[in-house]
Amino acid sequence: MNNKENMENTTKAVIGKIISVIILIILLYEAFKQPENDYQVHNMTTFAMDTIIDFSLCFNGDENIFIDVEKEIRRYENMFSTTIEESEVSNINKNSGTEYTNLSDETFEMLEYALSMSYDTKGAFSVTIAPLVDLWGIGKSTENKVPSNEEILNARERINYENLVLDYSKKSALLLEDNMSIDLGGVAKGFIADEITELLRDNNINNGWFSLGGNISVMGNKEDGSNWKIAVRNPLDENDYIGILEVSDKFIVTSGGYQRFFTSDGKDYHHIIDQETGFPAENGLISVTIISKSGIKADILSTALFVMGFDKAVEYWKNDGEIEIIFITDTGNVIATKGASEYFDFENKDNDFIYEVIS
Ligand code: AMP
Ligand code: MG
Repeated sequence: MNNKENMENTTKAVIGKIISVIILIILLYEAFKQPENDYQVHNMTTFAMDTIIDFSLCFNGDENIFIDVEKEIRRYENMFSTTIEESEVSNINKNSGTEYTNLSDETFEMLEYALSMSYDTKGAFSVTIAPLVDLWGIGKSTENKVPSNEEILNARERINYENLVLDYSKKSALLLEDNMSIDLGGVAKGFIADEITELLRDNNINNGWFSLGGNISVMGNKEDGSNWKIAVRNPLDENDYIGILEVSDKFIVTSGGYQRFFTSDGKDYHHIIDQETGFPAENGLISVTIISKSGIKADILSTALFVMGFDKAVEYWKNDGEIEIIFITDTGNVIATKGASEYFDFENKDNDFIYEVIS
């Protein structure tokens, strides 16, 4: 072996060693590196169920979960929507007074809960409110007018949640009289929020939040372990908020007359109807925000307690024991139940509202 060959061999050996050391470092790094941060935030916005849907979720990896979630939302929309002709709910409405309609497990489960809450709230939430909702047409037509007393009377005669009959063995439903119909506008988003939250957890996504047209699900925490902050809108100014809820693993749903309304002869008529009067509920409340462990319950009760008015709503809260509430009244009061006040931050809010806590 001459000197040149010797040198070449030594160089090769050194390069070989360097490569093995690099490979070793890479292997060690792969073996001992910290698991990737779970707090990559992924955002997605879409439009379904006639509303804007926003997601902000913490997870690693690809965003295929958003495709699954969107598919699931559209699947539910196709079952529940009354504007989709062949939806299960449209079929119940078409078959009113004639025959039972067979339902999927999900639609049956939701109807069962919506019906039990119609009884529980004594019709403040009414699953058969549709004739009045259609008559007023708020949010559905651009040419709203105040209906005549006769039209209101006629619609009210077709409303009675006691006439919705569920067959538990066959999972089917029947509206006992002709021309009755179901409207799930005050409950479907809450039900879907529960289902999507479960779907995300099944996919190991436990931190983040999403909003189905204002039905908010808050999951887990932020990266630093603190709670998510959800602003409660100022009903008088869409660019302002009246305070911030700092919560974890809760659903937050607001019902308010300011969300959808039309004006006639200087008076506003909104989309939450009292079946007793046939008119939009008018009792001094501008908005009701419910905080609950259950999305469907929060959605139903935001509507129901808005219809009940403050005194009955407080009574309901005392009996319920699980929900917490923030009321805003037309006298400029923001009233938080004791539990809500513990995670409702309105310090430093420079506005004219008067803040109170009730216990
Ligand atoms: P929300 O925004 O959750 O309060 O729901 C309002 C929607 O629920 C309306 O657009 C109607 O579709 C429907 N709705 C209105 N009034 C009632 C009521 N008293 N009970 C049940 N659903 C109602
Ligand atoms: Mg509701």
